[in-house]
This record gives sequence, structure tokens and C-alpha cells, in this order.
Amino acid sequence: MIATAPVPSQPALVDAHGRTIRYLRISVTDRCDLRCRYCMAETMTFLPRRALLALEEIAIIAERFIARGVTKIRLTGGEPLVRRDVGELARRLGARIGRGLDELTLTTNGTRLAGHAAALHAAGVRRVNVSLDTLHPDRFRFITRHGDLAQVLDGIVAARAAGLAVKINTVALAGLNEDEIPSILAWCTSEGHDLSLIETMPLGAIDEDRVDRFVPLTRVFERLATDFDLIRDAHRTGGPARYWRVAGTNTRLGLISPLTANFCDGCNRMRLTTEGKLYACLGHDEQVDLKAALRGGGVAALDAAIDHALAIKPARHAFAIGPGAAPAVARHMSVTGG
Ligand code: SAM
Ligand code: SF4
Repeated sequence: MIATAPVPSQPALVDAHGRTIRYLRISVTDRCDLRCRYCMAETMTFLPRRALLALEEIAIIAERFIARGVTKIRLTGGEPLVRRDVGELARRLGARIGRGLDELTLTTNGTRLAGHAAALHAAGVRRVNVSLDTLHPDRFRFITRHGDLAQVLDGIVAARAAGLAVKINTVALAGLNEDEIPSILAWCTSEGHDLSLIETMPLGAIDEDRVDRFVPLTRVFERLATDFDLIRDAHRTGGPARYWRVAGTNTRLGLISPLTANFCDGCNRMRLTTEGKLYACLGHDEQVDLKAALRGGGVAALDAAIDHALAIKPARHAFAIGPGAAPAVARHMSVTGG
């Protein structure tokens, strides 16, 4: 039985390096209906359902973070829209927008977005990130191991029709989509989407060596800068992204390059897994078990556990990629949430 009696509001979330945490990413499931080659192995072992946080527990944890100064929450996964009660969770958290929370967002592969877009907007979501690594159906099927591009494109159209702004997330992959990135950016400018390009990160074992697919975004940027008029944009989110405006369009281009550029100094985020583990850094194994704290000692124990996570948040990740190198951490991105 969880003790939910009100406890006094706690101090802001400031870590040992003086960084204030204002952004929580919540992975609501480690499962997914796709198997992107750079993210997962073809055969994955997922958590048993009994190991997952209940919706009520996620809501209590999120409430504590909001009480302690978190203003932005992103629902992610795995694929968040495969979790059956995700709509209800979005409604619960969305009710806090304007009451502590500034923004509730979602990262999705888009396969089920068409069926959820209107409800997400009604819950208060105004922007979604949709992961899309190619606009060619056959490449899409290959990268995701069986996905149907048309479903994702339908989801994006439905999102826009529902009033959601869309940012496309594209992982740059040598031999798979590197040649296509200029046309993906051109498509984003014509559709009015933002685009974030991502370097593949060494998270979790997959069926190939990531180094074979790794593309430094410096190389991609050089190519884009010859085809597009890119204007540096000061926008920062506290993450590892740098931004540009594509002149004459509404599109903002982000480069997320944790391997070739490190921006951990401004990190403002923590990540909650579907199992209730709070990771202070995507690239390290340090975590605290919020599920055990909440179930064992209620909200006061939860606060103490969050304080512990603040104390152990590392100064920076230590990602490196090289031939035959083991992943920096054994967890897949789908566990910690992208
Ligand atoms: N399933 C949802 C999706 O694909 O958008 C949400 C979870 S997914 C783990 C979040 C983001 O992480 C996606 O944009 C995906 O492309 C990215 N991603 C997954 N594994 C990655 C890796 N090893 N390196 C870099 N990005 C990765
Ligand atoms: Fe699933 Fe997203 Fe990972 Fe692709 S990137 S396998 S869609 S969790």
C-alpha cells in the first residue's frame, strides 16, 4: 500500500555539479512493434508485465518531480503508444499543464499515431517527435526489420491535422540513409516539420557492430550546408543538440551529436524506466530504484531516492565508438527511453 499523504514540498532538483533538473523522460514500456537495427537486436527479452510501474505509480512519481521543479515531461519507450493505458496517463499528466508543468510531449515511431493523435492533443500535448530514418518504403522495412512506412506517414498527417507540431528524429546511418538526409530535410521544409539528426550511440548489444553504421554529424552537416542556407539558432533544450534555421522556411534543424560534441555541462534531465529505475545519465549505469522506494516508504522515501539520484548524477557520459568496442552501457535506448 503506497502512502500518498501530502508531504511538504521539497527543494529544487540541483545536482552535485550545480545543474538544475527540469526535464523528466518517462519510458512507459520497453516493448516495441518495430525492431530498428541500430536500437534493438532481432530477438529481445522484454520485462514481464508484473515488473512494470502501474499507471498510478508513474503519475505519483511524475507529481513529485513536478513539485520539485520539473516543467517538462516526455513520454517515450520502447514505443509508448503500444502501452494500453498511455492515453489515460497523458490525460493525468496533461492536467498539470499550467499547474507546474509547462509541456508534455511524446517520442513515437508513429505506427499508431493516427489512432492517438486527437486524444493526445485533447490531453494537452502540442508537439510530438516522430522517428523516421528514411522515406523509402523498402529501406524503412529493412531498417525497422518489418515496418510499414505508410502507417508512419499517415500518423504524421493525423498528428498535424489534430494540431500537433511534428519534429522528425532521424538517426544517421552509413550505407542505409546517409545519402538521403538532404532529401529528408527538403521534405521536412516542405511539410513544415522540424528535423533532428542523431548520431548512433553505443547503447545495448545489437546484431551488428555500430561502428559500421556510425556517421559523424560533422560530415552530414558539411553536405547540408552546401545544399541549404543554414542559420545558427541559439535555441537550447539542455540536451546535446545544437540548432540551425533553414532560411526561408519554418524548419529548425537540430544536430544531436553526443559522440563528436559533448554538452553535458548544461544537462537538465533524468530518465525513469518502465521498471521504476531512475537513471541520472543515459550513458552510465548509476540508478536508483524509485519503485522500491515508493512501495516501501511512500512519497517521503521517493523524495529521498530522488535526492540520492541527484547526488550520483555523473558530470558527463563517456560514450566512445570504435571497431569491436562493447556498448558503453548494456541497456538499450528502448529501456532508458530516447
Ligand atoms: N519508439 C519510439 C521512437 O522510435 O521514437 C521512442 C523510443 S526510441 C528509443 C527514441 C529515439 O531513440 C528514436 O528517435 C530512436 O531513433 C533513437 N535511438 C534508438 N536507439 C538509438 C541509438 N543506439 N543511438 C541513437 N539513437 C537511438
Ligand atoms: Fe522501437 Fe523506437 Fe527502438 Fe525503433 S528506435 S526499435 S521504434 S524503440
